Amino acid sequence: MNQHSRFNLPLCMAVEEDIFEHVDQTVFDYLPEIKGKKAIFVTEKFLNDTYPDTVSGICQDFGGAEVFLVTGADFDSASALAKRILIENITIVIGFGGGRVLDTAKYAAFISKAVYICLPTTLSNDSLASPFSVLGTEGTNRKTLPCKIPTAVIVDTSMILKAPVSQTYSGIGDTIGKYTAVYDWALSAKATGTRVDDFAYSIAQMCYDSVAHCDEKSVTNKGFIKTLSRALVMGGLAMEIAGSSRPCSGSEHLFAHAIEEYYPDIKISHGLAVALGAVGAANFQGRDDLNLIDICKKYGLDLNPASYGIDKDTFCDIWNRAAGTRPDRVTILNDTDLNKDWLCDIYDRMQG
Ligand SMILES: [Zn+2]
Repeated sequence: MNQHSRFNLPLCMAVEEDIFEHVDQTVFDYLPEIKGKKAIFVTEKFLNDTYPDTVSGICQDFGGAEVFLVTGADFDSASALAKRILIENITIVIGFGGGRVLDTAKYAAFISKAVYICLPTTLSNDSLASPFSVLGTEGTNRKTLPCKIPTAVIVDTSMILKAPVSQTYSGIGDTIGKYTAVYDWALSAKATGTRVDDFAYSIAQMCYDSVAHCDEKSVTNKGFIKTLSRALVMGGLAMEIAGSSRPCSGSEHLFAHAIEEYYPDIKISHGLAVALGAVGAANFQGRDDLNLIDICKKYGLDLNPASYGIDKDTFCDIWNRAAGTRPDRVTILNDTDLNKDWLCDIYDRMQG
């Protein structure tokens, strides 16, 4: 069997201003066979309260779809949703929200084999179109579960512009991180005698290039919002083609995981933690990090660790714990002597 026959691509990928006013037309243009089928609208209370007209408009357009409010992105609520989808013969799952809502809707649609329509309200990371869901399991534990990418991804630029700009910064950071992720992936392939998938590699590299070299570095510009939307969705496709998160996740993500796992009190978005990690990772890889700091500055991202309450000792400790968060993952950290002077030097330059 050809390896490439195993992957799925979304049938519809639309980025447009005010497209949430006619999601039904867009979806049925691509998927006429699901017209008239039963749908469920998955979101959370905050968004339901903030955008009541958008929610009721879309529900009406999909035959009076009921609203399912996600409380916690955990395995049990995703299973409960999947059970309801199966018992009530629901064909279409519409996810409207950010990471937690979308991961729950994506996983529930996957296990119930429903058509999943992804309507992101923020551009905070590349999980919106990835073939994985991160769900809570027991206590504070979370697990990354394989699933299917969305059948349709529809981004409304006016909705994204209403979201807090910190969410968009996070999406930029997650995309910038591909600079060091693809490098680590190639390194790992060499070390393990395997090969990277050339297309997944190129796509991830292009995601980075499209944001790093975008002429319009303004997070409120509609053209840029389109570029970032595409970069995040294509990042998901790179993971789908590669069959792993490797094209989008290397040592910079291990840094972000170490913060999540060992310093839960540090308030920093996933994407910003990734961007911070990418500066260190680029140094370890012997590559230019000034470029990354400069690019982030132009967009308004703050890469000074002190801004997030990360002092020098903490910064060093996070890096020292990073590789241990995913011991099976080969990255530049396997070949790096993380001596304190070097880490402090990186820290100092990030403060500039
Ligand atoms: Zn990420």
